[in-house]
Amino acid sequence: MQLRFIGCGDAFGSGGRYNTCFHVTGEHVNFLIDCGASSLPALKRNGIAREDIDLVLITHFHGDHFGGLPFLLLDAQFTHRTRPLVIAGPEGIETRLEQVMEALFENSSKRQQRFDLGIVGVKPETTAKFGAVNVTPFAVVHGESGGPFLGYRIETESRVISYTGDTEWTEALIPLGRDADLFIAEASHYDKAVKNHLNLKTLEMHLAEIRPKRLILTHMGEDMLGRLETLAYETAADGMVVEI
Ligand SMILES: [Zn+2]
Ligand SMILES: [Zn+2]
Repeated sequence: MQLRFIGCGDAFGSGGRYNTCFHVTGEHVNFLIDCGASSLPALKRNGIAREDIDLVLITHFHGDHFGGLPFLLLDAQFTHRTRPLVIAGPEGIETRLEQVMEALFENSSKRQQRFDLGIVGVKPETTAKFGAVNVTPFAVVHGESGGPFLGYRIETESRVISYTGDTEWTEALIPLGRDADLFIAEASHYDKAVKNHLNLKTLEMHLAEIRPKRLILTHMGEDMLGRLETLAYETAADGMVVEI
């Protein structure tokens, strides 16, 4: 199984990185985790066949994780996609998707697709099954408005991929990431405490409880990017492929 970082940047394009979007492929699965605003050009740059993607899992409705969906859906329509597509995310996703489609491309949400589009709201700590992909969402802490905010523990093809989404430290990250084959963690900052976001030093204090088999840091701001050479941890890069 492979995970490719299509985009691993923060909301501000720090380091020229694309917004969050990870592409997972296995023997029986092909899905995206998040679809930030820049994801369609980033998918094309990586030569990803969009029509083979069956599922998009969205952690939250911020533009750098969710804002690429209108472009992905219009691209699917104009390339005559026929394969069904499921988009799953926090409850309320149907309304939020319609709003963002209408804001960016008027009337686009009303157009009849040639393919079956399923929009599914998922609930914290309730495992949802999408084909061979089992997804357990956890509520994370990322602000007073604009939620719900989720992190995901994804079990598929005998592997566990966990992703924190955007969050400050919360105990929920322990069951979310525990013993995961791959734990992808936000590390916006090195040691600066910024509300609603995670810094590496705080994450580090809890790694012994989480015990991931492999940790990769993502969503790094300028402060983290300036330290890449000296960090003791693996860090994501756009286009990087990880075998799981
Ligand atoms: Zn973000
Ligand atoms: Zn966010």
